Amino acid sequence: MNFISTRGAAPKASFADVLLAGLAPDGGLYLPESWPRFTADEVAAFKGLAWNEAAFRVLSRFTEGSFSEAELREAIAAAYGDFDAPDVCPLTPLADGQYVLELFHGPTLAFKDVALQILGQLFARALTRRGGRATIVAATSGDTGSAAIAALGGLPNIDVFVMHPKGRVSDVQRLQMTTSPHANVHNIALEGSFDDAQSIVKALFADSGFAGKISLTAVNSINFARIAAQSVYYFTATAALGMPATFIVPTGNFGDIFAGEAAMRMGLAVQKLVIATNANDILVRALKDGVYASGPSHATLSPSMDIQVASNFERALFEASGRDADWTAAAMADFARDRKLVLPHAVLEQLRGRYSAFAYDDDATLATIAAVKAETGRILDPHTAIAASAGRVIGPELARAGTGAAVILSTAHPAKFPDAVTRATGAPPPVPARLAGLKDLPERMDVLPADADAIKRFISSRLLS
Ligand SMILES: *Cc1c(COP(=O)(O)O)cnc(C)c1O
Repeated sequence: MNFISTRGAAPKASFADVLLAGLAPDGGLYLPESWPRFTADEVAAFKGLAWNEAAFRVLSRFTEGSFSEAELREAIAAAYGDFDAPDVCPLTPLADGQYVLELFHGPTLAFKDVALQILGQLFARALTRRGGRATIVAATSGDTGSAAIAALGGLPNIDVFVMHPKGRVSDVQRLQMTTSPHANVHNIALEGSFDDAQSIVKALFADSGFAGKISLTAVNSINFARIAAQSVYYFTATAALGMPATFIVPTGNFGDIFAGEAAMRMGLAVQKLVIATNANDILVRALKDGVYASGPSHATLSPSMDIQVASNFERALFEASGRDADWTAAAMADFARDRKLVLPHAVLEQLRGRYSAFAYDDDATLATIAAVKAETGRILDPHTAIAASAGRVIGPELARAGTGAAVILSTAHPAKFPDAVTRATGAPPPVPARLAGLKDLPERMDVLPADADAIKRFISSRLLS
């Protein structure tokens, strides 16, 4: 299978190229040249499949030509062996017309494990074949860093450097990163903010001499392999439900929800994809007013969604424009210049046909955590609670109409966000076994100034030793 860029000015690339590159060289995002299609019978056949087999059926359509079937099966088995739910992403009933798709059973208890675990396995295999090494540098405000470390720690030919803003991640999040026992994991506690960390990553990529010398790579959510891996649970959840669903997705960078569009384009019947956001509501405003405009960033109780620019939205715009790469490239240039993009009527109508969007503030988030706990006994994390706030409106409507059901994507375990849960319910959530032992383990991290040259020197010294 070949991949093309949303901006139309990059050579076609294989799955392995796309995996290792992340971003296309013209600044666009990779998508399949044409979407693989599942027939209605093939979609129906997901019912009752084991997760690993379902993942194989979806991913093999993309990896064809880059990985053998045996390699892919091996990578999938290694990726999902450490999940603490046998069916990996189970669908469980919540209430009237509402289900929860539990995506937090991986090693770091957040949905990013579902994609990063398989990405790491495929990455290591692609590098071994190419005979090179890669250096991954990531900036994290919490969840991404720990999921990347859990996925890449101990793999051959890869070094992972993760920068977190010193003192500004939760204890659980820090411990999940700094207690990794693997020699290829390097934690940097940066004397600065998350934005400082992100601009240092950009500066490293911009120094092409340095980036080339260390084979610098990124594993952020614009990597198409992550989208492909996340599309699997839209198939398995629909099969388990036995009818088309309205998926409600806590959305930040638009990666998780775009995986739902990918599943639809592959032939899955879906009622609607619902964008659920916090006070950072750029996508809600875009669908309502037809203007995609970034505003000031708000710090909320759902920090993994505190994003003003949803990078993966470019993929949805490209598709909604009828795959018009010239328009997409021009639109992204406008947005980069003006922080604002007026959506043409035809594009907006395409988007509205597929997506709807709701925003909830911190008070609503806390109220939903409290109400769901009181009504069902289930404790939701604040990101899931944003989606559940919409689910409490949509689910009963669907149940009354007798069509479909609301599937709330649950993106994190509540124990990762004990402060919000305590504020909502008066008590902290129970601590799962995976987190219980962390505070007794030795921590490894280096405290460094927020200065790109200092970070470069540190990376070079670690790679030489
Ligand atoms: C990353 C993350 C999200 C947002 O996912 P996107 O793919 O960026 O839209 C939502 N919830 C949690 C817990 C996350 O870690």
